[in-house]
Amino acid sequence: MNNNNKKNLFYVIYTLIVIAIFILLIGLGHFDLFKNFINKIEQSSFDLRQIVISKYKKPNKDLVILAVDDATYEYIMEQYGSWPITRQVWSDVVESIEQVNPKFIIFDMMFIKPDLAHIEGDKAFINTVKNHDNVYLSMNFDYSRDDIRKPQPLDDKLKLNIKEGKLEDNPYITFTNSRTIIQELINATKNIGIINATRDDDGIMRYATPIFRYQGDYYPNLSLRVALDMFNKDSVSIKNNAVIIDDNHSLTLDNTNRTILNWYGKSKTFKHISLKATIDAIKNNDIKFIEDNFKNKIVYIGTTVTSLSDIKSTPTDSNMAGVELHTTFLNNIIDNSFIKKTSIEFDFVIAIILSFLVGYFVLITASVFKTYVFLILTQVIYWIIATYVMLRFNLWIGVVLPLISTIATFVLVYCEKYLLKTKDYEQTYKLAVTDGLTQLYNHRYFQEQMITQVNNYNRYKNVFSLILIDIDFFKKFNDTYGHQSGDCVLKQVANILKKNSRTSDIACRYGGEEMSLILTNTSKSDAVITANKICLAVRNNKFTLANNEKVNVTISVGVASVGDDGLEPKEIIEYADKCLYKAKESGRNQVISQI
Ligand code: GH3
Ligand code: MG
Ligand code: MG
Repeated sequence: MNNNNKKNLFYVIYTLIVIAIFILLIGLGHFDLFKNFINKIEQSSFDLRQIVISKYKKPNKDLVILAVDDATYEYIMEQYGSWPITRQVWSDVVESIEQVNPKFIIFDMMFIKPDLAHIEGDKAFINTVKNHDNVYLSMNFDYSRDDIRKPQPLDDKLKLNIKEGKLEDNPYITFTNSRTIIQELINATKNIGIINATRDDDGIMRYATPIFRYQGDYYPNLSLRVALDMFNKDSVSIKNNAVIIDDNHSLTLDNTNRTILNWYGKSKTFKHISLKATIDAIKNNDIKFIEDNFKNKIVYIGTTVTSLSDIKSTPTDSNMAGVELHTTFLNNIIDNSFIKKTSIEFDFVIAIILSFLVGYFVLITASVFKTYVFLILTQVIYWIIATYVMLRFNLWIGVVLPLISTIATFVLVYCEKYLLKTKDYEQTYKLAVTDGLTQLYNHRYFQEQMITQVNNYNRYKNVFSLILIDIDFFKKFNDTYGHQSGDCVLKQVANILKKNSRTSDIACRYGGEEMSLILTNTSKSDAVITANKICLAVRNNKFTLANNEKVNVTISVGVASVGDDGLEPKEIIEYADKCLYKAKESGRNQVISQI
């Protein structure tokens, strides 16, 4: 791995750590507002996935809905003047359907009070329920307000037998009051289930409660009650966060002990048969209609008319009759297709992997366009995979955490890439203007700076001076001590030069063993003082050679200033050079500033 790759990797790791902390904070719920926001988007993405995959799902053809629809409601109002209708109608309808052997007839409808005006109708219905063990009724729970209603104990036969495992109580499943139904109906059958349903904060129904707890005992959801009889079971087990009916049927629970429903599409994906049409068929003795619609069917009876206000909002349809929630739940049990949600840790790992991919791609790709395309493609492909996984494995994997973390990585890595580029540029520039041996600026930079300084002088009258240095008898020095020791001396002279100049001065290697110092904003007299300081410092220094031997070295120095000594870089350099020559002539080891 070369140096640049190492650096890149370091930045990716750095980014990932930042993101990891970021996600961890969200994950741990330190920011409730943030967490709620993310949950909301995740729920919407779930709804969207449900809409897409429901197009590829087939509901169970045996499940049909006998609907109190608009036509039926109009008919009832005309005929009876009010809803509910006399139970004689239900008795007649059930008896007619029973002639064609339906699998189940299930009422998503509660018979709470006796109908005193039609007591004969009640009796007929109670008898019908007693005579057919495939007829199911519903009840629900709520919370008691002790001052008004005293919670009633429920008949033992209505309880659910849990042979193994236990459910944690929580407000979604535990209730303190029951709305009991007509006692004669309870006496007539054990086929009674609970039909409570819960909405999410946004009003959408995504969950169903399979088991309810009341007065210390458990009661099954209406559809679970039916399913148990369908599979000839009289108990369930609770294991691995699921309600197990048998080897092939289990209901996955979330952390609220509810199941996440897997929808089959919009309203009316299950066949709806109008109650009015059925009543007409019965009247007309149209046995074909009854046979075609109800033979061997699981018949769920419920209201679909808007005015009876049992309309729910679900991921796939904002106008779904409540009874369709129950058919969907029952269908999920039969298909064994409840949704399992992945844990936050799983989503976290996916987010990290995708972020790493996106971050690395941004670092290694020069084209900005390509990185945008990669980011968008990553999101789209991940979304398609997440949707496919939901269709194929009934798994809800999080898409929002990966979405946020990849975008955050993208932005952060871009910032780092920019910083890295700037740093690289700075380093390259520094290399281009520096002399490798002495670490002083090189000759080219010196020439550039001379031009800049002359320009500044012309524009702002900023006086500057130039000091030229040449080591005395250096050829001989090399011959005596060797070239390597000569290099050591060059380095040490350069250090003395730097030490004795200001940060605003520009120290350069002029060439060979000659060095120069441009002193900005410095008059000639001040430059001479600095030149003498440097000359003295060299003279007094013990230079260490390659073999650690210590020797003395001297330099000769020439000084020139812009203005009197010259107005062009060339002139000023020439003047300083002449001074330097004069210093050599005059016996070396000295500073000369006038020719
Ligand atoms: P003087 O300047 O006192 O007249 O005598 P000198 O012997 O120093 O003469 P001159 O300045 O002409 O000599 C330049 C010598 O500097 C030639 C070369 O051997 C030596 N020199 C130039 N560049 C380097 C270098 O990078 N390393 C070493 N070790 N010696 C160098
Ligand atoms: Mg020389
Ligand atoms: Mg020399």
